[in-house]
This record gives sequence, C-alpha cells and structure tokens, in this order.
Amino acid sequence: MSLNSERLYPWCEKNWENLWQQQQAGRLPHALLLVGQAGLGKQAFAEHLTQRLLCQGEANDTGACGQCRQCKLYLAGNHPDHLAIAPEEPGKAIPVDTIRSIAKFSAQTAQQQGNKVISIANAENMNIAASNALLKTLEEPTPNTFLLLVTDRPAQLLPTLHSRCQRIVFHVPPEAHVQDWLRAQVDLNEDELAAALALAGGAPRLAKAYAEEGVLSAYQDFLTQWQHLSSGQASPYHLAAQWSKQAQCLQWMQRIIATLLKRIACQQDLASYGIVTQPLSVQTHQALYHYLDKLNVLTQKQARHHLNLTLLLESLLVTWCQEVLAK
Ligand SMILES: [Zn+2]
Repeated sequence: MSLNSERLYPWCEKNWENLWQQQQAGRLPHALLLVGQAGLGKQAFAEHLTQRLLCQGEANDTGACGQCRQCKLYLAGNHPDHLAIAPEEPGKAIPVDTIRSIAKFSAQTAQQQGNKVISIANAENMNIAASNALLKTLEEPTPNTFLLLVTDRPAQLLPTLHSRCQRIVFHVPPEAHVQDWLRAQVDLNEDELAAALALAGGAPRLAKAYAEEGVLSAYQDFLTQWQHLSSGQASPYHLAAQWSKQAQCLQWMQRIIATLLKRIACQQDLASYGIVTQPLSVQTHQALYHYLDKLNVLTQKQARHHLNLTLLLESLLVTWCQEVLAK
C-alpha cells in the first residue's frame, strides 16, 4: 500500500492501516484517543482521518479524495459536520462551555448526510469540569459520530476518559528509519541531524521544527555551557540564572542525559557530550540514572506547580556537581 499524503507520515502508516481495517469492517469505535510524545504527527493523523471520514468521493483506503464537495468544505475549514476544538492559546485550559457544545453538535443531524467528526487537540488541557462534561457525551454515543482526542500527555486525562476510548499509540520510530525523511526536509549535516533528533527525543517532526527554527545553535550553546560547568569554568548559580530565561531548559537537560545514557548503553562515542568529565565508572552510570529520575520528577512538579525556575535550576546544577561529577 502506498500512502503518500503529506499528512500521513511514513512512521504512522501502520497505525493507519490498522485503523482503516477496523473502519472497513464496521468496527471503528466512536471515540479514539491518539497518544504519543510531541512531534510524531498525531494531530496531522487526526486531520487525515477526519477528512477521510467526511469524504464522500471516490473510495480510497489511504485517504480522502481531495476533490469532492465534502473534502473542499473540510479543507476550507468550513465543514458543518466537523467540530474542531483546541485551546485558544498554547497551554490554556479548554473550558467546560466549549465541551458542552459537543453535546449539541452530536444531537443534531449531519447536514451533509455523512459522518460527523469532533476533534479535540491538546485534550490534556480540558479542566475537570470539561472532562466530566465530555464523559457524559461519551456515555451516549450518537450513530456516525466520531470523537478524536489527541494528547501528548495522556496521564493528565481522567482514567474514566481513557477507559471509554480506544487508544492509538504513536511510537518513536527507529532513528535509521527517519534520518532519510529528515534529510529530505531540512539541510543539515550529519552532526546537526543527530543533534536535532536527540533534542527532539527521536520525534521526526519536532526535529524538523527545531532545525527550521534555528534552535540547534541555542542547544549547542546550552551544551557548551554545561560542559563549562562540568570542567569548573562556570558556577551553578550563574548558569541557573542564565538558563532560567530559556523555557525549554529542563526538557533539554532531560534529553541530554537520556541521550548520554543511550550512547553509553550502545557503547557509542561520547565526545560531543563532554558534560561528564571523569572516566565512566559504574558509580557514574548509576549517578546519571538517579539524576535523570530526579530531573523527571522536578520537571513534572514544575509543570504542575510553576515552581521558581531559577531556584530549581540552582538545586539541580549543585546536585550535578556534588552527586554526579564527584562520583
Ligand atoms: Zn473527498
């Protein structure tokens, strides 16, 4: 099967085939939860599926026809049987009133005599009241109406929402599989390519975005500053003040340590990750694992409680010097 739509990325083809087989067999559940880390193309997949469910043109297993009236309405953002919900701004809560509009939309007859589709992007941003309102809609499904929830952070959704949806999990593809795709998208040398993928946690679309936004040079500077800390040329307090202006600093720290551990496990070259200066002993290895655990816990706390980032970084960088470098 050749899947060449620009919204359906090569690493998502298996998910599509499984889902479309269910649809062909008349077993497509009315509620789907698309989960996986950011940058894997889940939202694009949801859009691809939405258009396919609305399309009434020439039948096709791989995507919508793109030509029929339904496709044109959808592509113009005007399809009356599609309700698209997303936070008004990144990180902003999806309010209960918005979710209540789903019940009304579900109850009305499809205006184009086909399917109706409701999509919710960044579904983790629904607050408790909104989630409860959505549960009610899920308990009373209406025929030919499909709900697509998309999230990078499934743990933030109510367990009852999980149990009422079929999960479609998007996995990080093997690096070798996406390098060619990434090379075709952006002009990067091999080191930059590896850095972009490492920084994006292996998520190809995120790696592409990083390359296009010029984030890679900021990341390289960040790594150099960390190397300076490790070699005693920078103080943790000075660096904490500097890094706290960089919104993604905790995420970058996580990525760097995770990549370092992966490289150690695969016995790969560590030269570009000179943040650990001493020879790698078993103790250093263990200390790195503990450090990553601590970093993960604090990052989650920070996201939930908006802790003071400078103080948090000071504590993390002092710990780095005392508990990792000292091993
Ligand atoms: Zn069509």
